[in-house]
Amino acid sequence: MTPETKRTAFWRVDGSCPDPEIIRRAGSVLRRGGLVAFPTETVYGLGANALDGRAVESIFTAKGRPRDNPLIVHIAGIEMVCRYAGFVPEKARRLMERFWPGPLTLVLPGSDKIPKEVSAGLSSLAFRMPDHPVALALIREAGVPVAAPSANLSGKPSPTTARHVYSDLNGRIDVILDGGPAGMGVESTVLDATGDVPVVLRPGGVTPDQIRETAGAVVLDKSLADGATAPGRPRSPGMKYRHYAPSAPMVLVEGDRARVVEEIRKLAAGYAGRGKRVGVLCREESRDAYGGVLTVPAGAVCDHASVAASLYDALRRFDGSGVDVILAEGVDPRGLGLAVANRLRRAAGRIVKAD
Ligand code: AMP
Ligand code: MG
Repeated sequence: MTPETKRTAFWRVDGSCPDPEIIRRAGSVLRRGGLVAFPTETVYGLGANALDGRAVESIFTAKGRPRDNPLIVHIAGIEMVCRYAGFVPEKARRLMERFWPGPLTLVLPGSDKIPKEVSAGLSSLAFRMPDHPVALALIREAGVPVAAPSANLSGKPSPTTARHVYSDLNGRIDVILDGGPAGMGVESTVLDATGDVPVVLRPGGVTPDQIRETAGAVVLDKSLADGATAPGRPRSPGMKYRHYAPSAPMVLVEGDRARVVEEIRKLAAGYAGRGKRVGVLCREESRDAYGGVLTVPAGAVCDHASVAASLYDALRRFDGSGVDVILAEGVDPRGLGLAVANRLRRAAGRIVKAD
């Protein structure tokens, strides 16, 4: 279904101390069934009233999102989860107390208080309390739980600025709240907390080691095994789709740093020899390592947070740059690097091992 054309309002708002009048107007748009994009500490979200099935449905249409990919319910306090989840296991409560507000989404038993459009028909529901003054003020003002995926066209890199949202969704949604760049730059960790041992379905800002400290054991979903792009049937439906992808095909090169740079140089020479225009997604340290080709640096080698914060903007920069192929340096998948490596793998059409 193509979305109706809307006049999208673009409202600037102070990211740390939002103007109550703007929040009041945005909250009222949400309550009336409209779509509002807002900043969070991970990426920008596209919110709808989670209690209004038709409003939720319009998120899927605006984004072109597959109907079987469920949404995260954003709340402004733990009491809201107790009200809308079917049940809150003790371990999940401890995780909420430790990590909320923050980049951890908890999958819990669902309930019929939330329309089926949100969970795409699953019996579970995902909840998160974002750590951003604009997001929290908006949810409180709306007075309802807010269903919100990332505010990008489906398949594209998630938006880390209001400009990214505008370029994907202008004319498809009601309001964009511009509260400055989102902080972390990668989406939340999605953790299935319905069983005895929590399962990481999508790596994100909260690492498995951090979860282990609070929950004891934690395991990674099989689809996150080294090098896997999503074989079999992932338990997080969203993980079966290709994501975060720039327009040009991307080849990801993983392994030891020196070998990665060497391999990319070789690949670049091969593509250039066949008349292809090459772009390289690199680290600050290697921006001058590739001769004449276009390089877009995303963060520094030993600073995963800096790579996360700039990754999606870097991927979007290749769109419109005229390159035919992107060669991307991999990252060490430890700590926050696991989330970054996962996004790179899912954006890439091909993965090459350099060791
Ligand atoms: P997005 O909001 O676009 O970053 O995507 C939300 C992610 O959470 C997707 O990967 C969904 O598949 C996942 N998700 C949401 N609800 C559930 C659920 N009930 N069970 C498993 N995964 C979920
Ligand atoms: Mg998304």
